[in-house]
Amino acid sequence: MTQLLDGCGRKIDYLRISVTDRCDFRCIYCMAETMKFLPRQQVLTLEEIERTARLFVSQGVRKIRLTGGEPLVRPGIVGLCQRIAAMPGLRELVMTTNGSQLPKLAQPLADAGVKRLNISLDTLDPRRFRSITRSGELGRVLRGIDAACKAGFAAIKLNTVALHGRNSDEVPALVDFAITHGLDISFIEEMPLGDVGRSRPESYCSSAWVRERIAERHTLVDSAEQSGGPARYVRVSGNPGTRIGFISPISQHFCDTCNRVRLTAEGRLLLCLGHEHSLDLRGLLRRYPGDDAPVLEAIHQALQRKPARHVFDHDDVQVLRFMNVSGG
Ligand code: SAM
Ligand code: SF4
Repeated sequence: MTQLLDGCGRKIDYLRISVTDRCDFRCIYCMAETMKFLPRQQVLTLEEIERTARLFVSQGVRKIRLTGGEPLVRPGIVGLCQRIAAMPGLRELVMTTNGSQLPKLAQPLADAGVKRLNISLDTLDPRRFRSITRSGELGRVLRGIDAACKAGFAAIKLNTVALHGRNSDEVPALVDFAITHGLDISFIEEMPLGDVGRSRPESYCSSAWVRERIAERHTLVDSAEQSGGPARYVRVSGNPGTRIGFISPISQHFCDTCNRVRLTAEGRLLLCLGHEHSLDLRGLLRRYPGDDAPVLEAIHQALQRKPARHVFDHDDVQVLRFMNVSGG
């Protein structure tokens, strides 16, 4: 069977695709207040994204996540989902979204074959929500979560970036929200991607701290479960409908089991979130429109350069790329 192996012998079977760098929010950990987005001709077309997905699936990729920016602001996204979800060999198409478009798109996405959703939710307070996202409306995202719960996805997970001085005091309330709605929730440590115009170390909140706060109220049971991504999970005793994940890129890197690469909105194949090593796939896709062989050859070669691990030091912005470009 064809498969993608990197230079460290890790099997790569998970591709994350950033379908746009644009977004209707400006979250304080992800973007600067004023952002310049890519000119449209530099962004991969839907056809180029589909072709890339097909090439990776032909090489053994079993899971694709569409992300961004905000994937649901890209026109044509539902049709793209339908075409990728139908690719023979793909086990699951999943998506990460800020939820703002879910009131109208949750059902079409589920019908198109998107299996699971990650929905970002950092606070349950409308004013805080506005200040963290700089422009978002909490009520709309909560309506989006409700619509998603009714649409028949196999699973929905909330994603929370925990920050001291912003939302860390809401960890128990967010866990209760997840339990009440029968959802999973993952807490993410903030990564130093891009200069977002504020000091990240001041608000850094470790997974260990978050876990302690939850353990003050709930009995947590370690779990070996994996969702094919970087989260480590615990179960909440007495609440079988909820798993709590910890994504700890700063305190506990997860590189030994890394199984993924990322395609940026401008068509760079990023080999690691914490490094600039990449392959200009857009150039290759446009140079060889009817010939996949040289593109595949370049992908296999690039994987030999995938770094063994990332080193994030939260005192410092080491990667100039913003998260919306990388595809979280
Ligand atoms: N717009 C969608 C959303 O917010 O869910 C998808 C893209 S967003 C870049 C993907 C995930 O990355 C979100 O859960 C977001 O909270 C997280 N994220 C963004 N910037 C981050 C950072 N600097 N460190 C850690 N997580 C970050
Ligand atoms: Fe947009 Fe998601 Fe980044 Fe927030 S985290 S600005 S919603 S891309």
